[in-house]
Amino acid sequence: MNRWFENLGYKINQFMRGRYGYDELFRFLTATGLLLMLLSFLPHLYFLYVFGAALMILACARSLSKNILKRQMERSNYLNFKNRILQKLRLARSRWRDRKIYRYYKCPNCKVTVRISNPGKRRRIEIACPKCGAKFEKRT
Ligand SMILES: [Zn+2]
Repeated sequence: MNRWFENLGYKINQFMRGRYGYDELFRFLTATGLLLMLLSFLPHLYFLYVFGAALMILACARSLSKNILKRQMERSNYLNFKNRILQKLRLARSRWRDRKIYRYYKCPNCKVTVRISNPGKRRRIEIACPKCGAKFEKRT
């Protein structure tokens, strides 16, 4: 029995050689796919099963792919996208947490977010962007 497993492990290894395997995107796709498949058991949501299954198939196809360069590019795109979302969430959270202490403004020139501590109420303030140096006026 042990030998059988060893043999199986060897065969899987052989099969996976030169193929892409698993990554963060694999985990994301399978987790989302599984979630959609579970949700599809709820009334009126049966169509989600198709999307869930499609994501699972996509995840498996990626891990068996031999076009490793392309898969790595997908992975880095996915990680970039995920980081951007996480950054937005973090900013939204600290904005909410510090809403009494700080105000946040977007620089009209370079779109960077500027944090101003305790500007007071109903005043006109001039803000100098720390990144590009542009000055703009805002009401608090
Ligand atoms: Zn700026």
